[in-house]
Amino acid sequence: MVEKKVVIIGGGVAGAILAKTIQHHANVTLIDPKEYFEIPWASLRAMVEPSFAERTVINHREYFTKGDLVISSAINISESEVFTADGRKISYDYLVIATGHTEHIPKTRTERLDQYKGENTKIKSARSVLIIGGGPTGVELAAEIAVDFPDKKVTIVHKGSRLLEYIGTKASRKTLKWLKSRKVDVKLEQSVDLDSFTNENRTYKTSAGESIEADTHFVCIGKPLGSAWLGETLLKTDLDSNGRIQVDEYLRVKGRSNIFAIGDITDIQEIKQGVYAQGHAQLVAKNLKLLIEGGGKENKLGIYKAQPPMSIVSLGRKHGVAQFPFMTVVGRFPGMIKSGDLFVGKTRKELGLEPKIKKS
Ligand SMILES: Cc1cc2nc3c(=O)[nH]c(=O)nc-3n(C[C@H](O)[C@H](O)[C@H](O)COP(=O)(O)OP(=O)(O)OC[C@H]3O[C@@H](n4cnc5c(N)ncnc54)[C@H](O)[C@@H]3O)c2cc1C
Repeated sequence: MVEKKVVIIGGGVAGAILAKTIQHHANVTLIDPKEYFEIPWASLRAMVEPSFAERTVINHREYFTKGDLVISSAINISESEVFTADGRKISYDYLVIATGHTEHIPKTRTERLDQYKGENTKIKSARSVLIIGGGPTGVELAAEIAVDFPDKKVTIVHKGSRLLEYIGTKASRKTLKWLKSRKVDVKLEQSVDLDSFTNENRTYKTSAGESIEADTHFVCIGKPLGSAWLGETLLKTDLDSNGRIQVDEYLRVKGRSNIFAIGDITDIQEIKQGVYAQGHAQLVAKNLKLLIEGGGKENKLGIYKAQPPMSIVSLGRKHGVAQFPFMTVVGRFPGMIKSGDLFVGKTRKELGLEPKIKKS
């Protein structure tokens, strides 16, 4: 029997798990602009401890051993083919779009590990660090630096009226209090004019006219959604006003029988979390298997249920702030869940890898 062709666009949290799970059930092609999968929420720890990235930046070939790997970006699709930036045309029976967010990061694992070493040197050689953006990335980076380098002056400047706006106000308040207790200065409702920085006075000006002295800065504003490339494709009318792909309860693009979308790129009404993106991938793996097997099984597709608004933000190595359905807590308890290993061993296991790398 000729194997069905499944093409997955995007090798992030959702795409990687799907590729790993479905690789022995179809002729699978994974398309991603870089040679590796990276655990996104471990990247801030890797900036203060570059060796941490050895376990969190994982070549796709380590977990995706069977199918075809295309290192390029998808730029267009037709009813039966995907077109890539490097000029390839890849045909599919089933297509899964998992392009979450885009980021300009290096193509090879070695370059990515070197990038973390460079960022670590930048942090170590600064006495004061300015962090622009008070979402999860800015907060987690500020906390990592405050905990590992308590002598450095850390300032967060955030445009919004509270930190961590993607979750509730209680989490924002508790996080602000925690950061202040670690001497992190937080300036809300202001933006930074990066052009105002001069090497002589090492000062940045904010939109409120304040001056912030810092030796270096990190821009931690949200990464753009990875759907811009779909704007001129046959799916252009399937994007909502935020650029997210509208999906049905089986996670198929609305009105399409053989195109699915999973992860942050979808319009599912839930907060965007990797753990939910993995849930989408597992459901679509199951649905693809049913469709491929046929013989009536295509009528038994699994249905996705949106998840409650839960999230944990790490605050250094031991603490965290967690929003659960009925309570929000800060301190050691959420820290015990996330902040030690940052779910790295767990994520590696889900990809069929050893949680720890054996030293040779
Ligand atoms: C600081 C921080 C902390 C977080 N902490 C947690 C946490 O504790 N728990 C949790 O569950 N979630 C957490 N998240 C959220 C989580 O990282 C995301 O929800 C998750 O990464 C979404 O997965 P995804 O596969 O949809 O997208 P992504 O992981 O963004 O992957 C998208 C992939 O698609 C690729 N791509 C983009 N465009 C194209 C194209 N045109 N062609 C081919 N490939 C393309 C990208 O290169 C990337 O590999 C955190 C996020 C941040 C920023």
